Amino acid sequence: MKIFLNKNNLIKFIKNEKNLGFVPTMGSIHLGHISLFKRSISQCNRTIVSIFINKPQFNRKIDYQKYPRTLKKDISILKRLKVDYLYIPTNDQIYPTGSNKKIKISSFGKKLCGKFRPGHFEAVVDVIERFIKIINPKKIYLGEKDMQQLKIMEHFISKNYNKIKIIGCKTIRERNGIACSSRNFLLSVYEKKIASKIYKILVNKKKHLIKKEISLDTIKNKILKLGVRKIDYIKLLDVNNLIRPYKKNIKYRIFVAYFLRKTRLIDNI
Ligand code: AMP
Repeated sequence: MKIFLNKNNLIKFIKNEKNLGFVPTMGSIHLGHISLFKRSISQCNRTIVSIFINKPQFNRKIDYQKYPRTLKKDISILKRLKVDYLYIPTNDQIYPTGSNKKIKISSFGKKLCGKFRPGHFEAVVDVIERFIKIINPKKIYLGEKDMQQLKIMEHFISKNYNKIKIIGCKTIRERNGIACSSRNFLLSVYEKKIASKIYKILVNKKKHLIKKEISLDTIKNKILKLGVRKIDYIKLLDVNNLIRPYKKNIKYRIFVAYFLRKTRLIDNI
């Protein structure tokens, strides 16, 4: 695996790549990321992974500071998987003149996490577009774990980059049901047990929710009783356009964002 810290070296080296798969990450590699790498390796001639903790997408400085960083371990995992290229840029290389405050994203960006994290999705789209300009990938691999991000990126790419394909990949879960996430490293054993119980409640109640045999408020109360500090949102939505369900046969998911102590977790089930 070739590691690039310098943007110009990377651009020169990959300029002739015709079928490059790109997996953007913020590091602290886990099985969710690994499934994306494997998918790209199986579908593309070469795979490039980036590790960059994108400061502008964090709403609170403390979350950025506390974000887990395990670079040495990440590199050894990526080497073992035979990823071709790893790009680890500095802030200055990505934002030589600051971030783009004028980025326009689809209206999905105003819902769910967008409501609670103003500017978050704009910052995500901004950084991915900056990577696109450097890397020029054929395919970009993103996880369904961050479904709203995936939908916003699909929309942005189809509007602005018709030669690039977004590949959405299934959520990978731990044995206890919780979605793999770098933020899980911040959870205690006890908090993980709570997160696992929440996952099970959502899985078990989903069909009753769809049939309106149980309300979201009842589920919310069950979750709060487990020791959750705050629920930002819990909603049943059509996964294809993230609007409220209006037909019986569309694909529903429960979207949830909640806090265990100071750690904010999101999932869609
Ligand atoms: P992150 O490093 O958290 O920014 O995530 C990088 C990419 O991995 C994003 O496209 C995420 O949606 C994806 N991802 C994170 N967790 C999972 C998971 N449990 N299963 C599948 N993809 C994931």
